[in-house]
Amino acid sequence: MILLDGKHVSEQRNLELKDKIEVAKAIYHRPPKLSLVLVGDHPASLSYVRGKRRASKLVGMESDTHLLPENTTPETLRELITNLNQDETVDGILLQLPLPKHLDEDEFINLISKDKDTDGFHVVNQGNLYQTKPTVHPATPKGIMTLIDTYNIDVKGMHAVIVGRSAIVGFPVARLLMDRGATITVCHSKTKDLTYHTKQADLIVMAVGRPELLTKDMVKDGVIVIDVGINRVDGKLVGDANFDDLKDVASYLTPVPGGVGPMTIHSVLENTFELYLKHLKKDN
Ligand code: NAD
Repeated sequence: MILLDGKHVSEQRNLELKDKIEVAKAIYHRPPKLSLVLVGDHPASLSYVRGKRRASKLVGMESDTHLLPENTTPETLRELITNLNQDETVDGILLQLPLPKHLDEDEFINLISKDKDTDGFHVVNQGNLYQTKPTVHPATPKGIMTLIDTYNIDVKGMHAVIVGRSAIVGFPVARLLMDRGATITVCHSKTKDLTYHTKQADLIVMAVGRPELLTKDMVKDGVIVIDVGINRVDGKLVGDANFDDLKDVASYLTPVPGGVGPMTIHSVLENTFELYLKHLKKDN
């Protein structure tokens, strides 16, 4: 089994990005800037925001963090995002999800300018993705594609089974894999016999949020497993795939932590850099 080492790959790619930022800074006289917005103090969300802030600093990007209380009104969040949209020094805006229940996620995702949408969740950017037009790709699916590319995994002709159909992971990763020539099956909570599908897969993406749902009796020998899941069990992080169980049958496998997570952060930085270049080219 070959470990798909997202931690190592993201570190290497972040170093390359740091060099690109250095060069761009000399041309444009300022670094890219990412604004992070978090409403509430959910510990996992706080740690994701801290991770993105730390990573942006490491690659030489500027960032600012807007921490708003749980009871923030829609008006206050609207005002903040509108100001960030208008702020010429801001290239990317990342609204950490989930939002508290009284705030409508769709409204705020789409309030972020599509040209500052580092997560690629804006309806226009998603529409472009589904029509295979150039656009900002959602960070986790983009990170997965970068990871498989780094290991020279050619998915053309493979049968890829994606478990999970969310708008931020399952559905867009299915699109990206299909664009590369894979044949796609998307499974979800209403799928009757998950094992029937996963047994046929050459590549499985687990994006469910159920600890260690995928086990070795559900796959064929030599399968490639990309585990997106992040679940906290007894204070420990585990994925949606049972790593110990699968390591003897899989040909490639991502660990949790250290697999898709760091690749997602890298993709957020890459997206911010791409938006910065577009932003500055438009102004010049
Ligand atoms: P979500 O809750 O929006 O979607 C979960 C999907 O799983 C749904 O489509 C649902 O139909 C499906 N599902 C639920 N139970 C199922 C079952 N028993 N069998 C088959 N399908 C089932 O979740 P999401 O936002 O897509 O995230 C999925 C997981 O990935 C979570 O653990 C999340 O924390 C993690 N995540 C990780 C990263 C990362 O960077 N590593 C990024 C985003 C999400």
